[in-house]
Amino acid sequence: MQLIDIGVNLTNASFARIQPEVLERAYAAGVCQLLLTGTSIDGTEQALELCEQLDETAVRLFATAGVHPHSASDWNADSEQRLRALLAHPRLRAVGECGLDFNRDFSPRAQQEKVFERHLALAVEHRLPVFIHERDANQRLLEILKDYRDHLTAAVVHCFTGEQQALFSYLDLDLHIGITGWICDERRGTHLHPLVREIPRGRLMLESDAPYLLPRSLRPKPKHGRNEPAYLPEVLRAVALHRGETEADLAQHTTACARTFFALPVIEETVVEENR
Ligand SMILES: [Zn+2]
Repeated sequence: MQLIDIGVNLTNASFARIQPEVLERAYAAGVCQLLLTGTSIDGTEQALELCEQLDETAVRLFATAGVHPHSASDWNADSEQRLRALLAHPRLRAVGECGLDFNRDFSPRAQQEKVFERHLALAVEHRLPVFIHERDANQRLLEILKDYRDHLTAAVVHCFTGEQQALFSYLDLDLHIGITGWICDERRGTHLHPLVREIPRGRLMLESDAPYLLPRSLRPKPKHGRNEPAYLPEVLRAVALHRGETEADLAQHTTACARTFFALPVIEETVVEENR
């Protein structure tokens, strides 16, 4: 079985110096390719360096490039030029993480919207897919996206945690949906159980969002408390259960979907087995 983690924050401080072992555990768990999420310009540069340092084969690690809506206030005169340069990197596969977060409001909303639009324009210009973050901002996100959608190749709403109306609005715009261990959270994720059935094959992908969102259903619970891409099979288990699919079937179609979406190379099954 092969899984692809479409969102891991491997540059996060909690992974400092242990990235190689984190990746070994991921490969051993069947997570054969990973997208390192770029949430700032500096962070994207670090993610691309990690891709090159930790994967000389150039088939396993790739990155996205963006400025998280929390940090939209950091966007300055240099940001667009620096971001544009990063988009040409051979390991770069998507624009983002970008979007709107009206839940925390760490940056003013008008600034979030402006920075999100700059990302969308760059994605159109470079014909790259978009990795979108949205919390409590469904309506504004839709209004902005609608102007760009016809010119965008593809876009995924990562870590979808919303309600049915939001899900359907994204599916209507032909967007992809990323599901995390939020679905394993018995306190705030159970509304996703009936909803994941509504996501068509070919539009659904899985992600850890590690080190965040440790699946609460995971047993035994790791002592260190952080999430890792190696726990992605727990997300697979929950999503398969609630879609009424086998884990093998769900792994097959979500992996095929991610590979197409991010233009990732095929990995031979024998290579995967050797790394177990
Ligand atoms: Zn996010």
